[in-house]
Amino acid sequence: MKTLSLRNPVLAAALSAVVIAPAHAAKTVSWDDIVNDDKTTKDVLTYGLGMKAQRHSTLKQVNAQTVAGLVPAWSYSFGGEKQRGQEGQALVHDGVIYVTGSYSRMVALDARTGKRLWSYEHRLPDDIRPCCDVVNRGAAIYGDKVFFGTLDAGMVALNKDTGKVVWSKKWGDHKVGYTMSGAPFIVKDAKSGRVMLVHGSSGDEFGVVGYLFARDVDTGEEIWARPMVEGHMGRLNGKDSTPTGDAKAPSWPNDPNSATGKVEAWSHGGGAPWQTASFDVEQNMVVIGTGNPAPWNTWKRTAEGDSPTRWPSLFTSGQAYVDASTGELKGFFSHTPNDAWDFSGNNSVLLFEYKDPKTGRMVKASAHADRNGYFFVTDREKLAQGAGYPWKQTALIGAWPFVDGITWAKGFDAKTGMPNVDESQYPPKPKAGADKGESIFVSPPFLGGTNWMPMSYSPDTELFYIPANHWAMDYWTENVTYKPGAAYLGQGFRIKKLFEDHVGVLRAIDPKTGKIAWEHKEQFPLWAGTLTTAGGLVFTGTSDGYVKAFDAKSGKELWKFQTGSGVVSVPITWEQDGEQFIGISSGYGGAVPLWGGDMAELTKQVSQGGSFWAFKLPKR
Ligand code: CA
Ligand code: CA
Repeated sequence: MKTLSLRNPVLAAALSAVVIAPAHAAKTVSWDDIVNDDKTTKDVLTYGLGMKAQRHSTLKQVNAQTVAGLVPAWSYSFGGEKQRGQEGQALVHDGVIYVTGSYSRMVALDARTGKRLWSYEHRLPDDIRPCCDVVNRGAAIYGDKVFFGTLDAGMVALNKDTGKVVWSKKWGDHKVGYTMSGAPFIVKDAKSGRVMLVHGSSGDEFGVVGYLFARDVDTGEEIWARPMVEGHMGRLNGKDSTPTGDAKAPSWPNDPNSATGKVEAWSHGGGAPWQTASFDVEQNMVVIGTGNPAPWNTWKRTAEGDSPTRWPSLFTSGQAYVDASTGELKGFFSHTPNDAWDFSGNNSVLLFEYKDPKTGRMVKASAHADRNGYFFVTDREKLAQGAGYPWKQTALIGAWPFVDGITWAKGFDAKTGMPNVDESQYPPKPKAGADKGESIFVSPPFLGGTNWMPMSYSPDTELFYIPANHWAMDYWTENVTYKPGAAYLGQGFRIKKLFEDHVGVLRAIDPKTGKIAWEHKEQFPLWAGTLTTAGGLVFTGTSDGYVKAFDAKSGKELWKFQTGSGVVSVPITWEQDGEQFIGISSGYGGAVPLWGGDMAELTKQVSQGGSFWAFKLPKR
């Protein structure tokens, strides 16, 4: 800056030009903007359209009466030879859309026209190990930066106005299986007043230990890290903090088969919190689902001769409550103790309030639709205040099936919070000398009654809208030993149909009773999230290429549009110059065509693609 001199007339003129033309200065994003995201209609600043991740907008220009007139305003092609699944949820700020694409790409688009303002393509090594396609689910925005995770286990901060890299952090070794597909999230620690970037990790199928991280937004430096496998050590401000749960990890057995004397499964125990967090502002608590225990093979995580029901593999396949100040795990509820089916617990955990019909008391609750087929309502105040930790299932309010034909459990006991597991659903061990065990029939399959695609809530109807699937699997145990960078499952599978006439089933569920209010069936698997609006609508996409709108009360299909490739992303809505827009990515891919067995065959007919679509009503 020493060379800067106002004696230089050209420079002086340039500086004064900047001063007298502040209208061109791009707006930055404040914490107030973020914490009020659910109430403001001109922007979408968070994954989940608010801290509570309810995916509800107060906009109602597009409503049950007008939606039939919805037409495309513009479409943008992600371009390139790289297509694959487009699972991203876009953000909108100050007339600019930020959307991530497959292969760790991001573009900024003019929200009025779809014109590209900048693009960023992350340079990926050849040896990345994403389990379930090269997807990215979205970005976070704060200050003058946008942030997103990359498939080589990195986190990148870009200047939101130029797309230039501000910082780039490698947080894990991609060669052993760490990767990232989920959108990061901004939270503010109420104690220090510090705004932080919170993100998880992926890689359970490769036997890495899952971590939740908080980072400095300006530098990317780690503030805290919390492993999700019991007994592993956390970090705070660059030092060891506390182990997760009990340091001796009593929920994981010593592995008698380990030649090294090390505890194989515990050392590679999974639990990755790969979806996006919610944030309980009052409790200063990050709320996030944790992934499956590794390996999938339950016998590796069960003491010889014992029942898997006694070895819960904490803190995997559940909902975790993490103190934003310290990264301490405060509360936990397991959706599937000793998860033998890769149900994982990652799907969105939504925060909501409702009046208890019996007592009239307002309950602050969490809602979660799990891959295991059950819809959970838990007491999030209790969980945030430490109930249930190290581990007691005391916070369960209700657990109801949201899909038909569940085989692994006969329900949950409201008093103990525990599932009533059918023990014949633990796939048998291979007999001595055999490579694999006897195959059993399990529903839902590991792809889940629902999966990563987030559900939404409408405070108007007081219903949740779950993009669900009816399917099943043949499932058998295989021998497995950990090898760095190799798939670590110990299970074989084949996904099958459960019903002839449909796979996908969009269901509306009442969180007070577990009753299904309505359903809509789809021939193909549903793999897109839902959005609700004050216009009385539910939006989602289908694998055969449609964006659809439904009446939130009745489930009647009111509008659809064919995008030309499968829709497996998450819709948003925003207001631009007095008009309501709906935006969604199209581009088929994700886990179903890779792992889906009979369903992968079924969806082979879907064209590849990669585009973002914006819809609005015609001008009056
Ligand atoms: Ca907003
Ligand atoms: Ca998994």
